[in-house]
Amino acid sequence: MKRTGVFYHDVCGKEAYSSLAMGVEEGFKSIQKEGLFSHPNVTWFESEPATEEEIARLHSQQWIDHVKQTQWWRVSLYSVGGMIGATEKVLKGEIDNALVIAGVGGHHAHRDNAWGGCYFNVIGLGIPHARAKSLGRRFAIVDTDTHHADGVRDLYKDDEDMLHICFCDTFSWVYNSDDRMESNTKFCFPHGSSDEEEISNVEREVPDRIKEFKPELLFWLCGMDTHQDSYGTAALTEKAYPELARIIKQIADEYCGGKLIVKTCCNAPPHATRYVMPRIVDCLAELGKYSEE
Ligand SMILES: [Zn+2]
Ligand SMILES: [Zn+2]
Repeated sequence: MKRTGVFYHDVCGKEAYSSLAMGVEEGFKSIQKEGLFSHPNVTWFESEPATEEEIARLHSQQWIDHVKQTQWWRVSLYSVGGMIGATEKVLKGEIDNALVIAGVGGHHAHRDNAWGGCYFNVIGLGIPHARAKSLGRRFAIVDTDTHHADGVRDLYKDDEDMLHICFCDTFSWVYNSDDRMESNTKFCFPHGSSDEEEISNVEREVPDRIKEFKPELLFWLCGMDTHQDSYGTAALTEKAYPELARIIKQIADEYCGGKLIVKTCCNAPPHATRYVMPRIVDCLAELGKYSEE
């Protein structure tokens, strides 16, 4: 069994962004209700707020000061702080893998602007933290959110120690045509229009690239706006996400020493997160509670 951390603070649930904000708190509570924290290898770490110094590793002071004046400041700090805490604990070997439940998005956050429910680059900020603490250098992000991760791509475009595999629909190209450009470490692939197609796209495009790149830690942005009751591709049922988790965890186990951090946020309705969150934790911690399904 793996030692799994769940990083969440009540602020992320109570102050989450979007009309689907309720899914954040419901997702966390369902992990509690399903009794997963009673397993000794599953631990809830209450996320701590990130510091301005940590955020300034990727963002300008002007942008930090701007976000500070919005209602999204506090939830952004706790969301980034959860990611930083998880990154540190996984890379130090205190836990094997983690689920970070954030209250805001992150992958549309650039150095001094952002859109789409994003303020600071949540996963992106885990990487300079790891490097500053000399805990790791080479990282990979697999992003299965509906939309193109323009912020991550922009911040890391010249960083050959960061492999970015982004699933996005063609609609997102409108935002910035330069983002289409691929390099040896930056890729975009289409989403599937069904559970089966999405899963097979991930199975086809991800494992060999991770194997070849050999990251020290794999981040998976489990964007759930691909769910049929959300606002993205609306192509997937809740059953797709535990299956994606299984595939991605297997890749991390084979090629990254098991080091995996899954990030979710505020883009799926409560009935979906209630189903998905405990099953992701179950998968990460190898509990087998739902193996009959
Ligand atoms: Zn999205
Ligand atoms: Zn993309």
